[in-house]
Amino acid sequence: MHFLSNLHTHSIYSDGADSPEAIVRAALGKGFRSIGFSDHSYLEGENWCMKYAAAGDYAAEIKKLAQKYSGQIEIYLGIEFDSSSDPVFYKDIAFDYKIAAVHEFRNERGQKWAVDDTAEIFAEATKSIGLEKAICGYYQTMSDFIGSFKADIIAHFDLVKKFNRGGRFFDEGADWYINAAFGALEKVQESGAIIEVNTGGMARGYMDEPYPSEFILKRALETGIPVTVGSDSHRKETLDFYFDGALEILRSLGFGSVKMLLGGTFADVEI
Ligand SMILES: [Zn+2]
Ligand SMILES: [Zn+2]
Repeated sequence: MHFLSNLHTHSIYSDGADSPEAIVRAALGKGFRSIGFSDHSYLEGENWCMKYAAAGDYAAEIKKLAQKYSGQIEIYLGIEFDSSSDPVFYKDIAFDYKIAAVHEFRNERGQKWAVDDTAEIFAEATKSIGLEKAICGYYQTMSDFIGSFKADIIAHFDLVKKFNRGGRFFDEGADWYINAAFGALEKVQESGAIIEVNTGGMARGYMDEPYPSEFILKRALETGIPVTVGSDSHRKETLDFYFDGALEILRSLGFGSVKMLLGGTFADVEI
């Protein structure tokens, strides 16, 4: 089967290249059954995030498109909600689903670095904080966030590996790393959220495999955490980037189904 849906989609409302309608038309062209928009929640001073005042327009535009294309494709209003965003900004918006994401390292004094901006920033942060401490802190932030924020999907679970091709910065097989990742995974299980197999790092040429790594997916399967597939797309051309490959990985690990948002609920779709 082909996975004919994507809930992790960025438009011009945050750091995507295309308008929501251009994305809907591309999704129709690919024969998608559903498409969801997940622009980045507002963070002060960050130009990759949604503008503070744009949330209402964003929601209205997606809802309008959902009506316009009703009968052709299901369109959902979502958000990629950052661990440092204030939920109060969005209290009046009825999202169809929410994706939770951690994008930062933080030291004790509250100084922040992007996890996923450049390898240089990653190197600087992990040098300043200490590599193990920075990465364990990332997973701890995720655990705390999942505990307090009701998310449907957890984005790019192991984003910390973005610049780690060939084990450049750390060994994913090290006990401290596995323990940190599995600790956060336990919180995902408790929360009932879905883990996303995210192909965005591949689409942008940083990685040769999706997030999360296979040993994490294997653990998710063993502990009954459901998974979905998402492209974290920033261009309409990459809406289904490497989806067939992602399904192949899941099948090889023993997954029999994935979650897809259909008719307003997360349905199990056989793979
Ligand atoms: Zn993200
Ligand atoms: Zn994203």
